[in-house]
Amino acid sequence: MFAEVIINSNARALNKVFDYIVPASLENTIQVGARVFVPFGKGEKLEDGFIINLKETSEFANKEIASVQEENSISEENIVLAKLMARKYFCNISDCIKLMLPPRTGGKKLENRAKEKTGNFVFLKRDKEEIDFLIETEKIKSDKHIRVLKFLEENDGVYKSDLELITDVSSSTIKTLEKNGHIEIIEKQIERNPFIHKNIEKDEPKVLNKEQKKCFDSIAFCIDNNEFSKHLIYGVTGSGKTEIYLQLIDRVIKNGKDAIVLVPEISLTPQMVNRFLARFGNIIAVLHSKLSIGERYDEWQKIAKGEAKIVIGARSAIFAPVKNLGIIIIDEEHDMSYKADSTPRYNAKDLAKYIAKQNNCPLVLGSATPEINTMYQAKNNEISLYTLTKRANNSSLPEVEIVDLRNELAEGNRSMLSFKLQKEIENNLKNKKQTILFLNRRGYSTFVMCRECGYVAKCKNCNISLTYHIRDNKLKCHYCGFETNNITECPNCKSKKVKYFGSGTQKLEDEIHKLYPEATTIRMDIDTVSKKNSHEEILDKFKNDNIDILIGTQMVVKGHHFPKVTLVGVVSADSSLNLDDYRAVEKTFQTLVQVAGRSGREESGKVIIQTYNPDHYAIIEAQKQDYDLFYNQEIDLRKMLNYPPFCDIMLIRFSGKNIEEIKKVSEIVYKKIKNINNENIYIFKPVPAPIDKIKNKYRWRIVIKCKITSKVLDIVNYAIQDEKIKKCKETSITVDINPNSMN
Ligand code: ADP
Ligand code: ZN
Ligand code: ZN
Repeated sequence: MFAEVIINSNARALNKVFDYIVPASLENTIQVGARVFVPFGKGEKLEDGFIINLKETSEFANKEIASVQEENSISEENIVLAKLMARKYFCNISDCIKLMLPPRTGGKKLENRAKEKTGNFVFLKRDKEEIDFLIETEKIKSDKHIRVLKFLEENDGVYKSDLELITDVSSSTIKTLEKNGHIEIIEKQIERNPFIHKNIEKDEPKVLNKEQKKCFDSIAFCIDNNEFSKHLIYGVTGSGKTEIYLQLIDRVIKNGKDAIVLVPEISLTPQMVNRFLARFGNIIAVLHSKLSIGERYDEWQKIAKGEAKIVIGARSAIFAPVKNLGIIIIDEEHDMSYKADSTPRYNAKDLAKYIAKQNNCPLVLGSATPEINTMYQAKNNEISLYTLTKRANNSSLPEVEIVDLRNELAEGNRSMLSFKLQKEIENNLKNKKQTILFLNRRGYSTFVMCRECGYVAKCKNCNISLTYHIRDNKLKCHYCGFETNNITECPNCKSKKVKYFGSGTQKLEDEIHKLYPEATTIRMDIDTVSKKNSHEEILDKFKNDNIDILIGTQMVVKGHHFPKVTLVGVVSADSSLNLDDYRAVEKTFQTLVQVAGRSGREESGKVIIQTYNPDHYAIIEAQKQDYDLFYNQEIDLRKMLNYPPFCDIMLIRFSGKNIEEIKKVSEIVYKKIKNINNENIYIFKPVPAPIDKIKNKYRWRIVIKCKITSKVLDIVNYAIQDEKIKKCKETSITVDINPNSMN
């Protein structure tokens, strides 16, 4: 017997199948999905890999499989899925298999910490980008150091003792890394699972209203009949979507099956999980990135052993090892976090469809502002649509006003806040109500320029201007983590007329302090959200300490319910409107509607949107909170411009230090695809990416507009596997289908 084995590596050259002889002693037990050690290469060094097929003949096999690691094998269905993903997302099969394996502990048993109260947790202190950069430029060289840092990149929050065990280093190695400022060690309360609190009051199912019942009945029918089907529940926040999910899951469990519920990472809060606990008790497993590796391991085991019947998690929970899947629910289905931005660049929504089909079960999507693509499918009867028009608690939508910033300038207002917004903030302060100010740019100023000669301070590694951070008086690159001292004199012409342009959250906070010295504020952006101060903790503090004003980026948009917030100010609605991205308008609309939803959840609320584009339909429909009107205009435009859902966008990115090679490689790929002359494919010439240099690597891209079919995948795979390209080792190629960002 022979086995086709793939090696566990992300090297492009190893993305192929190798044949091995199955020793007679293993013939009866070996299975597809088994994790094996095989001799590889000249030195016959043992490499680990997975069996993806078994067969009776082989022309190539000349070496035997060395051994099998029983505990780490995966199912045959998952091997099929991994193969499919590798082809569709242009990555190695082993990259996909990694998502399906239990959290990597190197086969080591983690300590039993059940009795301890606190433990030392290790976190990365620098950004992942920064660490990678230091390793690449050989500022960090030691194998041990690299091993620890790489492990921490994948696993946030690891017990120090576990880390030493898994990465096989001593306590002093960890200490050195701490001393060098790469990692930090924090003493933290130990909870076996931070989300599973005891003593939750039992919650009974509600009597569904007519709209809810119609939706429930139709999906429950599919559950009972093991029928694959797709459903979209479209209803504003508070219209009772979650109540429907809960009752559907109840039905699934009564039928002896399991459920997967995907939610955006940031809305995976204890409050949210508590609702499931209150209904179902402790048959829930939670998977998300803030769990320590030990906790993640525990949750994974609980699912694999069948103790947990409901998995709630972020994107990668779609790969949870549930035994008998009866439903997949994706809440806030429009959220960008369901699409991965790094290899493998999969879309959990697409995979959910495939997995639901394999398991003959329904897929349920829910949103107040469905993705344009999803709504389009619903309108074309590819997805069953249910609209919930009533809010369960009858609260009304906030009043939304638009302020034209062009008039402010004309009236001599140079502040970031319009007169109107200033007045409303004052009112709110007087009435002891809370305010949220939303601005999607962090730092103080977005760029620094010399007024004399036009010099702009740029990152030395990236073709991007540096952002001024006033708290530590530094200029920082938001792409690679590079930072340098602030400048007061132009390095080019020695002029002192160096000025700051573009305003970020730090500047907004300063302006608020100047205008309202008595107001208390709290800021939430990547710079304030750290390991010690989680997103969750900042929001709790805002709520419980009764802070007057919360200033934040995208992060303030989701989760949490703030009863005392009666004013939301969108400081600049335009920042995402003009991006080079076909979804820019859709994203802007969704964000505005969501931000507006933060105001007046109980009392009547106000929303003020400041913009330079008051006539833009995304802004006007957001003011009316009218998704349907927005959808109609957006879909017409997409059709006219032939954008998704009328086609797919494929982005082929080329990056590397050798710009001549990049040009050559991208030209080869372009010509190869172009020459195939498939009328379905519309390909644009290779050009530099909008940000054409990041971390000292040049970036080029090819954009393709087409319907993704298996033929198209073959053509692109064939083009990027060209022999001439394989010789160009300095250029890496990635392919992204309908990417979150065109950068
Ligand atoms: P959504 O998920 O759409 O935001 P929820 O399911 O969270 O909406 O419902 C909002 C609130 O209304 C919750 O407190 C929920 O318990 C309650 N609710 C939902 N459906 C009903 C119902 N049929 N009868 C009474 N209360 C309901
Ligand atoms: Zn100058
Ligand atoms: Zn940079």
